[in-house]
Amino acid sequence: MKLNKKDKHTLQDDYSKALLRYAGTAPSQEQIKKISESLSTLIGSEHIDVNVVEDKSIGGGFIVKCGNYEFDWSDAGRTQQLRDELVDTAPGDDFPDSHIISILKDKVVNFDLEIQDREVGNIMWVGDGIANVKGIGHAFYGEIIQFEDGTKGMVQDIRDDHIGCILFGSDEKLRQGSRAARTYKQAGIPVGEQFVGRVINALGAPIDGKGEIKETAYRPIEQQAPGIVDRQSVKEPMETGILSIDSMFPIGRGQRELIIGDRQTGKTSIATDTIMNQKGKDVICIYVAIGQKESTIAKLVQSFTVSGAMDYTIIVNAGAAEPAPLQYIAPYAGTALAEYFMYEGKDVLIVYDDLSKHAVAYRALSLLLERSPGREAYPGDVFYLHSRLLERSSKLSDALGGGSITALPIIETQAGDVSAYIPTNVISITDGQIYLEQDLFFEGMRPAVNVGLSVSRVGSAAQTKAMKKAAGSIRIDLAQYREMAVFTQFSSDLDEITKAQLAHGSVLMELLKQPLGQPFKMWEMVITLVVVGAGIMDDIPVKKVNEFRAAMLRYYEENEKDIITEINGSKNMDEDLKKRIIHAASLYKGRFDN
Ligand code: ATP
Ligand code: MG
Repeated sequence: MKLNKKDKHTLQDDYSKALLRYAGTAPSQEQIKKISESLSTLIGSEHIDVNVVEDKSIGGGFIVKCGNYEFDWSDAGRTQQLRDELVDTAPGDDFPDSHIISILKDKVVNFDLEIQDREVGNIMWVGDGIANVKGIGHAFYGEIIQFEDGTKGMVQDIRDDHIGCILFGSDEKLRQGSRAARTYKQAGIPVGEQFVGRVINALGAPIDGKGEIKETAYRPIEQQAPGIVDRQSVKEPMETGILSIDSMFPIGRGQRELIIGDRQTGKTSIATDTIMNQKGKDVICIYVAIGQKESTIAKLVQSFTVSGAMDYTIIVNAGAAEPAPLQYIAPYAGTALAEYFMYEGKDVLIVYDDLSKHAVAYRALSLLLERSPGREAYPGDVFYLHSRLLERSSKLSDALGGGSITALPIIETQAGDVSAYIPTNVISITDGQIYLEQDLFFEGMRPAVNVGLSVSRVGSAAQTKAMKKAAGSIRIDLAQYREMAVFTQFSSDLDEITKAQLAHGSVLMELLKQPLGQPFKMWEMVITLVVVGAGIMDDIPVKKVNEFRAAMLRYYEENEKDIITEINGSKNMDEDLKKRIIHAASLYKGRFDN
């Protein structure tokens, strides 16, 4: 490697002196002179004094250190190189044992030793998952740094006189003065088809006890988002199976829809129900859990396994007990996996549960790295933290295979305050939000979607025409109902029109209630909406509405198969089809005994 004079460190490194440690025979004056000369040309210094000491610990050979550079030609270094090489070639579990010997033999015989020149530094300070390292001057942002006990870290902060690394392992064995070396590699995770159905940590290592995962490729965790030319607009629906969302706030493939609400308002449930609804729809789902309890994740894996959703899902878990650096990189790692599938032309759904905890982990890191705190003690770049993450969700152009990443980030609010720092940031980054309200949740309205404050800015382009037509005025009807219900709650004598509107509204509200794990099919939603829109259910007692719907849908399935096929197949819903749906419903209603 030829170093540039300009590259030279100026602060703590002295490039006029070198230290040569040897074991075995001491080098002759002639050899030392040669080493000094070749170092001068390599590093670009005028003259280098070589100090020679004996060090038996290196086994044999020698190590020369000059400034931050180290040239390793020792037995210890060579053994380490061979060891690394062998570890890299370790075959997977399904590899026949008889082949291993020949592979190892081949590796050992053909082992090509290189003089390792590396930039090494020392830890100045370590603690709380952070290490400040002095002496590494050229490391780039996001580079992996290897510490002497094998722990890896990532460069997160670059200062004049030191770099700050976040550690991906325990810092127990690291001390002030411990060695740290550059790896020249950008932080990334292994990716591939075999990750589907597995639970992994933020570094891509399996944590479900089901053995190793053979990766297809390695992707950097931070990656530039696709540009405008590489994208196309959102046009296919990502069906959640939840009536209140698919009818009023439709989500398209490639969209970013925020799920926001107080704690315990059903945020996770919406995301997991959506994942379960992707069965048979050729979508790969990635659920990134940040700062969640292990028990919650265990329950989730269990329910995904039972429902069969695990067959197309990857869970990336950085639990509450994991150090902040892992919680911080988890969503980027999950996105790297998602990108692998997107560039293969597949549709991916990724859930970030939740980004409030992610921001908190990043705040902890930043404060430890001594970045100045801003609003709510978050560092100044906290907006960029989420914008660069969510910008990577997209619908790729057909030339790039037409794959997509749909993102459902989750944000937890405090006492319904959507105007706090992190919520407003993420609201402005995403293409809409589903706002869940605690009061509605306690009233029994589940999912507790607040119709007034929720919005989907691009999804209606992806809604099927039949659904769009069927959903019609439901949002306005509901908003009117909520308003009127407040005004009329104390008045006794209402006129007939108001009474009818109230009855219609309460039926609508009842129909939007949906238990967990019971997604609706598209045709079921369309029929429900058309029938309720025609006012056919308005005189059914509210308590019986759901029973009526269930029985009615069964009736269609048994007797009106044509209608269902037409809804599923047609691009549009014409008046004739609508009339037939309504006619069938009236026929059925005559039989329903309320
Ligand atoms: P947290 O803030 O703890 O992450 P959350 O907002 O993600 O909570 P969930 O864990 O999804 O909320 O749901 C909270 C509780 O509400 C759960 O016990 C869940 O079973 C229940 N719940 C959510 N949605 C529904 C629903 N549609 N019908 C019935 N129960 C529901
Ligand atoms: Mg949750």
